[in-house]
Amino acid sequence: MLEVIDVRKRFGTTEILKGVDLRVERGSVVCLLGRSGSGKSTLLRCVNHLETIDGGQILIDGRYIGYERRGDRLFEIREREIARRRSEIGMVFQRFNLFANLTAWENVALAPARVRRLAAGQARSRAMDLLDRVGLADKAHLYPNQLSGGQQQRVAIARALAMDPKLMLFDEPTSALDPELVAEVLAVMLDLAHDGMTMIVVTHELGFARKAADRVVMMDDGVIVEDAPPSVVFHHPAHASTRAFLAHWA
Ligand code: ATP
Ligand code: MG
Repeated sequence: MLEVIDVRKRFGTTEILKGVDLRVERGSVVCLLGRSGSGKSTLLRCVNHLETIDGGQILIDGRYIGYERRGDRLFEIREREIARRRSEIGMVFQRFNLFANLTAWENVALAPARVRRLAAGQARSRAMDLLDRVGLADKAHLYPNQLSGGQQQRVAIARALAMDPKLMLFDEPTSALDPELVAEVLAVMLDLAHDGMTMIVVTHELGFARKAADRVVMMDDGVIVEDAPPSVVFHHPAHASTRAFLAHWA
């Protein structure tokens, strides 16, 4: 469902992604690991077209997110159409990015009501169902600053799910949380994974990767150096940078 083919990305004169190839099948979970600065966030941002790319292609179900093909050339499409295509991808960041002046359920209901023009009642009942799914039905009327970090992150996941994404991207969703709050967020993500959601998860939580991932993909200096099931990567890492990463985080 997702095809990343020889993708290159420069910032200024520095090449950050140096020809990345990644395929993600529908319903599969990929954990993306790699040391700081290796290009993980940049790759996710390119998938979602928050960044343009300088080479290669990114296709979701055979379609470009930010471009269309005319003849043999690609043209960037209009922002409104990009936004529509991007709404097929849910993204959860390290920081929760909730709207502080909206309650939990309002945060979840906002995009479906605006972008999909769901009727208010319908958007609300769907938001309630999603909050229930992440274990927060009883917190629906609270504002972000009345919620713990773990609860805020679970609201952020519910909000991302509200648009019925085909693909969910997680960029270190638990690394800003106090240690005792990490498990509740990982439990929601594991539940999603078991439910068949297609996911790419950047994380240092190797226990999660072991349990949830179909494949572990290791990035180093702008390229993918390892792409295999967790049992293989964790027990027989092929690349020196994977061994160094595991020694640090295991
Ligand atoms: P971390 O684990 O610390 O989050 P990462 O693997 O997500 O690291 P990226 O955030 O993708 O790494 O950054 C990769 C490289 O690209 C870094 O050297 C970073 O400084 C550079 N970079 C990222 N965004 C920009 C930008 N907007 N302008 C210039 N350089 C950038
Ligand atoms: Mg990052």
